[in-house]
Amino acid sequence: MHRALIRMAGAARNFIFPSRCLACGNLFRVRTHGLDPGPSPPDCNNWTWAFFCGDCRDGWTPVRAPICPRCGLMFKSREGEDHLCQNCVAAPRHFFRARAAGLYAGPLMQAVHRFKYHGDTHLAAPLGRLLFQTFREHFAMDPVDLILPVPLHRRKFKQRGFNQSFLLVRNWEKSAWAMDGERRSFSIARNELVRVRATSPQTGLGRNHRLANIRNAFQIAEPDKIKGKRILLVDDVYTTGATVDECARVLLKHQARQVDVLTLARAMTLS
Ligand SMILES: [Zn+2]
Ligand SMILES: [Zn+2]
Repeated sequence: MHRALIRMAGAARNFIFPSRCLACGNLFRVRTHGLDPGPSPPDCNNWTWAFFCGDCRDGWTPVRAPICPRCGLMFKSREGEDHLCQNCVAAPRHFFRARAAGLYAGPLMQAVHRFKYHGDTHLAAPLGRLLFQTFREHFAMDPVDLILPVPLHRRKFKQRGFNQSFLLVRNWEKSAWAMDGERRSFSIARNELVRVRATSPQTGLGRNHRLANIRNAFQIAEPDKIKGKRILLVDDVYTTGATVDECARVLLKHQARQVDVLTLARAMTLS
């Protein structure tokens, strides 16, 4: 009886389940070994391959060294050491470091578009797990006091119906349990940072125009909650970093101790 139970438990730990590809939406099969999805193909983040089907996985590019240690830019050349990029040398950032799961291209871009612009909010849970995986890789060692999703202006929020950055971190406690078997709690402050000015879309603007466009767009609701805290800002996409850097500037002005940035995707531009 006892042996039969152990065999059943073993079988339950190794099974194949259908998963829906985050990019194209097709079903594909994932083989799991208990909580661990098994060895990943080369050049894939550990869990990422469980999120995209075989076809879409080919277009997935994880952020890999050499990178800029400050803004997380992935250099086109795959040779050499990490070094500061020309933008970070020319204009030092307020945030300490920014990291992302993958490049904003191919399947990740498709997934973000489905989530954000087509309102496929059920993608928040798997994309949130992908983001949590990146958090584990880069920020697990230094405790973060407060997680702040980058806010939308209330008009934009009304129009979209959700804040994608908040939805990405909302289920991290479940992710920690599913992926690490650990009960962890995260302090997520969704209303601490307030977007007080509606800005025109940043897309298509150069770096200087983006900076001017976003300046003074954010305020802090309760400065006492920020003072002395180590903060992780979360957003879906890092393009030039103008938005998160402006958030970091305001947070440091209110005496945050350190501000780091985590996004799902990162543009590979130097503009
Ligand atoms: Zn696919
Ligand atoms: Zn940089």
